[in-house]
Amino acid sequence: MAFPENRMRRLRRTEALRSLVRETSLDPGDLIYPLFICPGEGIRREISSMPGVFNLSVDQLLVEAEESAALGLGGLLLFGLPASKDEHATGAYDEHGIVQQALRALKQSAASKKLVLIADVCLCEYTSHGHCGIVVEYPDGFEVENDPSLDLLARTALSLAKAGADIVAPSDMMDGRVAAIREALDDEGCENTPILSYASKFASAFYGPFREAADSAPQFGDRRSYQMDGANLREALREIDLDLQEGADMILMKPAMPYLDVVRAARDNFDVPIGAYQVSGEYSMLQAAFQRGWLDRDRAILESLLGIRRAGADFAVTYFAKDAAKLLG
Ligand SMILES: [Zn+2]
Repeated sequence: MAFPENRMRRLRRTEALRSLVRETSLDPGDLIYPLFICPGEGIRREISSMPGVFNLSVDQLLVEAEESAALGLGGLLLFGLPASKDEHATGAYDEHGIVQQALRALKQSAASKKLVLIADVCLCEYTSHGHCGIVVEYPDGFEVENDPSLDLLARTALSLAKAGADIVAPSDMMDGRVAAIREALDDEGCENTPILSYASKFASAFYGPFREAADSAPQFGDRRSYQMDGANLREALREIDLDLQEGADMILMKPAMPYLDVVRAARDNFDVPIGAYQVSGEYSMLQAAFQRGWLDRDRAILESLLGIRRAGADFAVTYFAKDAAKLLG
């Protein structure tokens, strides 16, 4: 049937009609809110390149958690800024590390009953050199060593699970880390803790503002020897397949906006829960446009997140989580 019998505009005439035929939903429960925890008390330090995002001490984190629960968010993703760093990232797997303290405090709160607490598992925030694994120097340069890093990542995941993480989320991109973490969790009675693997994490310019937020910029070199090349879609599917074989329960794609085709391909190929991370650069460039009055803030926030859902992600990690939930209210 063609025009004039067929008129696509018939179903767009009223909001009620549009609502009835809407294909993709966006709910506060689909949103995960990333937070950066620092030592101290009463601290709420805004990140200059990410307006509205803060380094929070544990007491302030509890305030955010309460608000996030009241807004119906799906959960929190926790990153830590340790008091000190060293070459072996000891702060990452210290029983009294910053995220471990935060998790114990959160577990005492009513908010934690309504939120999924996800702990990022990586070493870069805790290493003096800022890389995601153990670094060894050779005469002709340095190497981020894969296998020696696995043990530390597994220890970190186990320590976070024991402190109360509902999910552990390895983001380092070392080969074999999901299997190493699964084994460590299972050996120590944490067989019910799921792994959300950052299975396809691309080396991206859009992570720039995060490195200020998490104080995790590499002191030398870059992360291209372990994060993926932005040109590679087939390789992303192999990464996901391998992580699932190693025992990942769900996968996270990062960044979101420049890689929505990869999210779609993952959705079409794997029947597991998929999340996509609207990363710091995506957030900051939208914020910059809002500050200049170049974009309609409310509509752009929701459209950017709807795009992630429509590409096939079940949930989105986003610094706009609270703003979006209020708009969806
Ligand atoms: Zn890292």
